[in-house]
Amino acid sequence: MPSIRFSALNQLGQRQPVEIKLPSGPISAYFATNVFGADAMQTSLSADTYKRLTQAMASGEKIDYDTADAVATAMKRWAMDKGATHFTHWFQPLTGATAEKHDAFFEISEGRAIERFQASALVQQEPDASSFPSGGIRTTFEARGYTAWDPTSPAFLYENGGAKTLCIPTVFVSYTGEALDHKAPLLRSMELIDKAATAVCQMFDKDISYVKPTLGPEQEYFVIDRALFFARPDLMLTGRTVFGHSPAKGQQLDDHYFGSIPQRIHHFMMEFEVEAHKLGIPIRTRHNEVAPSQYECAPTFEEVNVAVDHNQLLMDLMEKVAERHQLKVLFHEKPFAGVNGSGKHCNWSLVTNTGRNLLAPGRRPKENLVFLTFFVCTLKAVHDYADLLRASVASAGNDYRLGANEAPPAIISAFIGSQLSNMLDSLEETAEMQFDKGDNVYLKLGINKIPEIMLDNTDRNRTSPFAFTGNKFEFRAVGASATISDPVVVLNTIVANQLLDFKEEVERQFNDNTKREVTIINVLREYIEASKKIRFEGNNYAEEWMKEAKRRKLSNVTDTPRALDFMITKQARDLFSRLGVFTERELEARHEIRLEAYQKKIQIEARVMGDLAINHIIPTAVAYQNKLIDNVRGLKELGLDQPHAEVAIAGIKDIAGHITSIRTLVEEMVEARKRANKVEDARERAILYCDEVASYFNRIRYHVDKLEQMVDDEDWPLMKYRELLFMR
Ligand code: ADP
Ligand code: MG
Repeated sequence: MPSIRFSALNQLGQRQPVEIKLPSGPISAYFATNVFGADAMQTSLSADTYKRLTQAMASGEKIDYDTADAVATAMKRWAMDKGATHFTHWFQPLTGATAEKHDAFFEISEGRAIERFQASALVQQEPDASSFPSGGIRTTFEARGYTAWDPTSPAFLYENGGAKTLCIPTVFVSYTGEALDHKAPLLRSMELIDKAATAVCQMFDKDISYVKPTLGPEQEYFVIDRALFFARPDLMLTGRTVFGHSPAKGQQLDDHYFGSIPQRIHHFMMEFEVEAHKLGIPIRTRHNEVAPSQYECAPTFEEVNVAVDHNQLLMDLMEKVAERHQLKVLFHEKPFAGVNGSGKHCNWSLVTNTGRNLLAPGRRPKENLVFLTFFVCTLKAVHDYADLLRASVASAGNDYRLGANEAPPAIISAFIGSQLSNMLDSLEETAEMQFDKGDNVYLKLGINKIPEIMLDNTDRNRTSPFAFTGNKFEFRAVGASATISDPVVVLNTIVANQLLDFKEEVERQFNDNTKREVTIINVLREYIEASKKIRFEGNNYAEEWMKEAKRRKLSNVTDTPRALDFMITKQARDLFSRLGVFTERELEARHEIRLEAYQKKIQIEARVMGDLAINHIIPTAVAYQNKLIDNVRGLKELGLDQPHAEVAIAGIKDIAGHITSIRTLVEEMVEARKRANKVEDARERAILYCDEVASYFNRIRYHVDKLEQMVDDEDWPLMKYRELLFMR
């Protein structure tokens, strides 16, 4: 009897919803109480310091030492009043997780213990950084890395096991100033798009002095019982199930979506939402997703830097709260074959200091031209740099998701809806139009009024990887476990680049004889034409789209190692280094780190698969086979050869066939792994892992899943899909 599976099921039978204590009063009463944000600052800093700090934060200028010291003192007092004893620089190294190094406020001064936290400790720290990936940037002789305070993302108080720590969001850079994290390039890209977008805005409106990108990430995830999770070594070690036959009831009935949420899970959600709200994370919606045991939560959008920090923090928080509820959250992109995977839809837009969403049509004709400018420039950027967007979402986990069951394919295209498609098409047709001095250009071009774009459900293309949804773009190809930073850095950079080009082109074409609006439209018209092939309104999941995309010469790179090539093309190097987002060295380092992460994931999956197949599945199948052999003997003794013993023998042969196939395939896979491991070059090795190791996964799985259907349920060692997905 495979005890771990059945003891887990026993535990499950005894679970009760965990009681939760929710704060009384409305969310507003406790929202952001664990954040050293505007409110806390205003009450604890002098008016003068507060003003200097907020000005510096808005303009991105450096904060002087005295201000930093005053902030440090106020921050410490605030945190200690709330029970904190330690502080940490909180950062996002290239591992994808977050890291912390805890220090006590406590110091010894002249033989006495005092609680101190100075500007120097707030502003900069030197964590022992040698264990974080640097892609060769941080060689041992310059092994130091620094974390530096990011005042644009508020410090917060994080509770873990009763201990409270003041967490200070920071960037992580090498001694030589190269970025070793996900935040530094994000901040660079924000500064870049601010400059580019503000310059374009000023062509229309002199009141606009800065522009910030906004982001609302919708997070998909699975939740399963903790005991069931620990009964599946593959889930534990790789985040996904490498074997498992689809249950009789999958997601065919679509009855889970918007259905009622089971009580245990509901309690978990309520609790993590309260915790999130205290941390200032504005979670708003929660609902079931398409697959059984799959859910989604979405916050109200925020400035991207804060949104990225909040998403990272939220994932951490969810895992922590799940533990209290004896649950396990799965952020893997494809934990279960055959059902929907998990993504992180990134809703992205640009907002001005005047509060205007640049991707929303306005009430006045002039505002529409601003909207059109930003809208068309984004499409053109996506067209020109689709490959970079593709690379930004590439990972071992996402390879299983993209293009499979309800996820966009690896082909990047943009959906904009019929209304805007028609508008762009008719603008194209106005190429020959002549304008007189007195003409109302807007009226003549038909863009004087763009009604508020309401994309109802019929005009909402849920299959597109990059969809315009009325007042924002939604990038849906991002994987659920990934940091959002990578895709957003790309998006910010390529759109900024396009805006800079746009401004230059308008200035070049402009002459005193034409209206400025006409020049702008002419430039946009060129972009509309040039970027046409990226627009697709049809079903992105359909086979025909693969063919059509091929005809349009759109890239369709389905595996990570090859998609990552796009990061280091000449086009990519030129773009990022010219705009100061990544140096070539930084790009190469990141390329290598991501290749290695991919290869290691596949390596672990291959090992786990081999181990489970040889040490768990085959012995179980052999034991069951022996029972059948005994049975045949018995049948024969009774003279029941025909047809009974014959049929049983056929079954035994079937099982033997699968066992032999598994043995052979696993052996071959191990050999392929050995060959790949000998290869020095990271890219070549990753490609071998992809083509020659991972290619065995489905083949081995096929036989194991067949055995699962044949072997006595009582004997099967692995938790089954129906148990993992439908038990609560
Ligand atoms: P859906 O219909 O896809 O559920 P919602 O309006 O609920 O759309 O928004 C989904 C996500 O998009 C939310 O996280 C929301 O905050 C975010 N969002 C809305 N407006 C913007 C914007 N201007 N910029 C960035 N994200 C936005
Ligand atoms: Mg959405």
